[in-house]
Amino acid sequence: MEEDDEYDDHGDESTQNVMKHVWNLIAHNAHLAVFIVFVMETERDPAALFFYLLTDPVHYHKNLKDMQKWAYEIHSTFLLPDAPLRVPNITAQIVNEINSALEERFDQDEEHKKLFVKARFVAKNAVRLQLNDFKAERSAGLSRFSGPSESDLKTCVDNVAKEIQVINDHLIPVIDTLSHDLENCTNRTLAIASCLATIMSKIFNAKSSRNASFLDRCPMFLSDKKSKLFGKNVKKIPLMGHNFELKQFTHPTLCNFSKGTIWGIGPQGYACQNCDFNVLKRFVNRVEEPCMEKSRKVTKTTQLSKLASDLGLPLMRTAAPLPGRESLRIFSTNPDELDIGKCNLSLYHS
Ligand SMILES: [Zn+2]
Repeated sequence: MEEDDEYDDHGDESTQNVMKHVWNLIAHNAHLAVFIVFVMETERDPAALFFYLLTDPVHYHKNLKDMQKWAYEIHSTFLLPDAPLRVPNITAQIVNEINSALEERFDQDEEHKKLFVKARFVAKNAVRLQLNDFKAERSAGLSRFSGPSESDLKTCVDNVAKEIQVINDHLIPVIDTLSHDLENCTNRTLAIASCLATIMSKIFNAKSSRNASFLDRCPMFLSDKKSKLFGKNVKKIPLMGHNFELKQFTHPTLCNFSKGTIWGIGPQGYACQNCDFNVLKRFVNRVEEPCMEKSRKVTKTTQLSKLASDLGLPLMRTAAPLPGRESLRIFSTNPDELDIGKCNLSLYHS
């Protein structure tokens, strides 16, 4: 059972009642904004709350390909073992089931609609506990974070302008503390900023001049716009012999530079078309490791030159075996003198 089964208090818009159940909380944007700020300001872990909000089925893409991209963005941000904003108590079994659904069965039997059901159940329990803390601390006046008054919150229920004002007044200071150095912040801070940008823009529809620059810069889930946070999305980057192409990853892949899993909002990184090197977008210009295909050639050339030199024989370029290519061959005037003349020691340059 994913959703609450108590629907007995409809119509009672007191804060205590709105905050009674998770389903009712997420139907009230101002209350939800205040709860988000409580979680952040009291240094509780916001991972379960953000995951739960962003995987609400109302946000599912209709197009299967977009759905698959989005699913990996969420999976790599919240659920994989080294995800920067990992939801607590997600079991290895839950992660493995999602991994195999992403890789093998995504387009079968509406598999994608069931993808996050178990993880949402775990997350919702965590949110429920935080909500209980919020209610207890607020009613006892104990919390470091007090939030708007009961009457202000009640006004928001049928006044959209007031609702947007409460959301902005409380969330923008939190966003300001996160957003001053998005290029150099930790993965976790960037993930939190992306969640808040998405919630502000897609759930609260609270775009304003006060948050426009943040929403413009910060990568967002559920968005068609590609973030330019780590530079323009250059499609091809030749570097260290690599032929890097911008890529939207859709299943777990290692970043060969940072050694972490490639995560987050796509296109997340670059993949070399000549070798198996993959790298997160933010690190692509720092790659110093040469392309493996290139280095294999280099190694072969070096070995061949050394061998030729040891044998006292010249290393010759020979006629191209294929159009546009040439080969290097150890040249011996007397093939009987050395078996090497019969060996296939040629190297093809493209
Ligand atoms: Zn390469």
